[in-house]
Amino acid sequence: MLSAKNLDVRYGQFRAVRGVSLEVKQGETIALIGANGAGKSTLLRAIAGALPIYSGELSFKHKVITHAASCDRVKQGLSLVPEGRRLFTEMTIEENLLLGKTINRAGDWDLDRVFDTFPNLVKRRHAKAGSLSGGEQQATAIGRALMSNPELLILDEVSLGLSPLVVDQVYASIEKLRDAGTTIILVEQALDRAIAFAKRAVCMLEGRIVLDKLTADTNRHEITEAYFGLQ
Ligand code: ATP
Repeated sequence: MLSAKNLDVRYGQFRAVRGVSLEVKQGETIALIGANGAGKSTLLRAIAGALPIYSGELSFKHKVITHAASCDRVKQGLSLVPEGRRLFTEMTIEENLLLGKTINRAGDWDLDRVFDTFPNLVKRRHAKAGSLSGGEQQATAIGRALMSNPELLILDEVSLGLSPLVVDQVYASIEKLRDAGTTIILVEQALDRAIAFAKRAVCMLEGRIVLDKLTADTNRHEITEAYFGLQ
């Protein structure tokens, strides 16, 4: 579904992503892990079109999208929930969700299905996004992405800054999406949670992929070594 070949992403002279190649198949769930500064957000943002790709090639559903605008990527079914959620705080939950529909892709995600997936949002649907708890904001950000009927959902640090109980709730919802067959790439700092959620673990270190294995074929020790560059 997604094919990245030898991607480089730079900030000025600095190569934050270095020669990354990654193949993602339909229905896969991938946990992208790595220490702070490893390049995870940079890679995801470049895949979503929020940062330019300096060199290499990116294709989605067999179409080259290396330099496509981010809205064209959403139209093709690729949607990113960025770190920090980025909601319109003066708009209500419902209005934020409906923004996801601006790009009208065929599919069965609508307000009702988002509210079924995130039941906590229902009674707050007319509240301003700025007044919501962190968990409600995260659910709204994911719901907004789902409203565009993505085929590939990219989630950057969904649990950041949330209490453990709220993280459990957010994960219960994204597990439903995973079990329904949605293809998901997720950045997660909590290794155990990442391994439990995803079928595949991809670890980055200093801009490169240093481990790419099915979670069933690896273990916490091997992943931790890759994470710290100890292999
Ligand atoms: P984190 O978990 O801290 O978000 P990450 O793995 O997502 O880490 P990135 O945020 O992608 O890492 O950062 C990769 C590298 O690029 C880091 O060295 C970081 O300092 C650098 N970097 C990130 N954003 C910028 C920017 N806007 N300008 C310059 N350098 C940047």
